[in-house]
Amino acid sequence: MDCIFCDIVNREEQAEILFENELVMAFLDIRPVNYGHTLVIPKKHFDNFLDVPRDYLDELISVTQLISSAIKTGLKSDGFNVIINNGAAAGQTVDHFHFHIIPRFRNDFNYRPGFKVYTDGSIKEFADQIRNAVIK
Ligand code: 5GP
Ligand code: ZN
Repeated sequence: MDCIFCDIVNREEQAEILFENELVMAFLDIRPVNYGHTLVIPKKHFDNFLDVPRDYLDELISVTQLISSAIKTGLKSDGFNVIINNGAAAGQTVDHFHFHIIPRFRNDFNYRPGFKVYTDGSIKEFADQIRNAVIK
């Protein structure tokens, strides 16, 4: 399978690696939204959030928190975004699961989409569709 992030894990592709352990790797995004924009990935290939096993997620979250803290301290950022894009419709371009950590600075940019408004009790219909799909 052709995967640029697997190539980075296997050292077949160069990357600015910030951290790695047995399960997880963090490296700089090559097209940063802000300087220091970081990706945290499982070393094993999973396509997206729904495919990552629970024990792996624990480790990914832990490393994401560690590196977020290092970004905030090291780059003196005012804040940071942690983002996951899942599926092409959500902007996922590399099908190897990853967290984005984006350092943020006051008044750097605004990327909020417009808000929608629920009409005529439709909020309950949306909630029901999701509630009915929750697997307990
Ligand atoms: P996505 O759009 O899938 O959520 O994010 C994929 C990210 O991977 C993008 O922000 C893109 O800039 C980054 N990226 C793509 N190819 C490479 C690469 O070869 N090296 C590095 N370091 N980042 C990459
Ligand atoms: Zn991969």
